[in-house]
Amino acid sequence: MKRGLIIAIDGPAAGGKGTVAQQLAQRLGYRFVDTGAMYRAVAWAALQEGISLEDGEALGELASRLDIQFQQELTAQGGRYRLVVNGQDLTEAIRQPEVERASSVVAQHPPVRRVLVAKQRRLAEEGGVVMEGRDITTVVLPDADLKLFITASLVERAQRRYAQYRRQGHEFAAPPAEQIAIIQAQLMARDRRDAGRTTSPLRIAADAIVLDTTHLSVEESVDVLWRMLRARFPEAVAERTPSS
Ligand code: C5P
Repeated sequence: MKRGLIIAIDGPAAGGKGTVAQQLAQRLGYRFVDTGAMYRAVAWAALQEGISLEDGEALGELASRLDIQFQQELTAQGGRYRLVVNGQDLTEAIRQPEVERASSVVAQHPPVRRVLVAKQRRLAEEGGVVMEGRDITTVVLPDADLKLFITASLVERAQRRYAQYRRQGHEFAAPPAEQIAIIQAQLMARDRRDAGRTTSPLRIAADAIVLDTTHLSVEESVDVLWRMLRARFPEAVAERTPSS
């Protein structure tokens, strides 16, 4: 017996899928799985251990040695999670720009993907899960109850990522407009790697619903999806919205 729906979400970097997926999971009382954090964890460990980002076999072996745990926690701002890898809290460490860059390089190697995809499928086995990434709707959970592709314009995504870095306390030498242009170029490079790779490239599944959040706030995006869920799966959503 499944404990709830399986919701799969894909989209490009900084398109808003992480925040939206997390809030949706919280409203539903489901488990949230950020698969990008798993690729970031492998990248972080590879940088620590000095493993070449080009050595797919060694990176796959490294991935299989990592015990990756998402520990859900509730804060005043809503649900969040801490990422604990082999007992070490890496929640902040994996958000560093060099780990971010390395993550899309390690993600190109089939041995790494094999290990992480198997872990991801195990996490979704029981249902009641919102999982987000790049290949969730197409490869990891192609039979999900609901498949979404969440995106936003490149300019908007660069601005959001800049704001996020600032919130995390990053100081930039370049003035804001210049820094946003640099981030835009980095996002384009990552998009190209993610959509252009041979194994599990980022693409829109034929039966995915596309949500463009360029002109939507997080709350508006979550509301759009909530209404859609209520229309499609009234019984799954009913117990969460007693007043509606
Ligand atoms: O989502 P996030 O930006 O944290 O992901 C970091 C990197 O991990 C992405 O650029 C992508 O290369 C990789 N990734 C992936 N497949 C996923 C999730 C993330 O290849 N399902």
